[in-house]
Amino acid sequence: MKKEAMKEAYVLSEQQYHKCMEFHGHVCPGLSIGFRAAQAGLDWLKENRAEDEELVAIVETDACGADAIQVLTGCTFGKGNLLHRDYGKQAFTLLGRRTGRGVRVCLRPGALELTERHRQLMERIQGNEATKEERNEFGRLHQQKSREILEKPLRELFTLKEISQVLPLKARIEPSRPCQVCREPVMASKIQIRHEKEICRSCLEEKGAFFTDYPRR
Ligand SMILES: [Zn+2]
Ligand SMILES: [Zn+2]
Repeated sequence: MKKEAMKEAYVLSEQQYHKCMEFHGHVCPGLSIGFRAAQAGLDWLKENRAEDEELVAIVETDACGADAIQVLTGCTFGKGNLLHRDYGKQAFTLLGRRTGRGVRVCLRPGALELTERHRQLMERIQGNEATKEERNEFGRLHQQKSREILEKPLRELFTLKEISQVLPLKARIEPSRPCQVCREPVMASKIQIRHEKEICRSCLEEKGAFFTDYPRR
């Protein structure tokens, strides 16, 4: 890459990180992981000519990194192209809706290793025992780690694996019907039937005992 082009890419990536930060509310290592993972995934799609169709993102965490994925890929819950699988992993899949071709980007074991001190401070903060000085020190270490992740070569951070997975198209707009308990309108496909009544899931959760067909243990 020419020097000018390199500088341009750097500035562009700074701007994009700033956007993620505004959306997420703070800078943190998790946001940096999501940011780099989105870049890695988008680069892969470009190299493999798979970027010219509607993207779907599958996030295996609902923590910080998922916010960077939304900003960089444009995939959101509202558009129906952001899916959450609750596996608690720093893993992010990007694929084309139609072809189902894409890539899963997963954090390497140990790539986000925190120092002993960093972990200690984190525990003290979580236990509400940290002094003001300790909080400040933690803040500095947290910023430093976030920056480190942005500067690390991608291959040290992630493993990439080609994925082929065709996703069913979900009906996103459908007529609602009133729940026969709370009277609130509910998407027809989300309605549950209990004792011949059409009931919403939240009523079923709240009044579960009343509606189950079998006595609860
Ligand atoms: Zn965060
Ligand atoms: Zn209801």
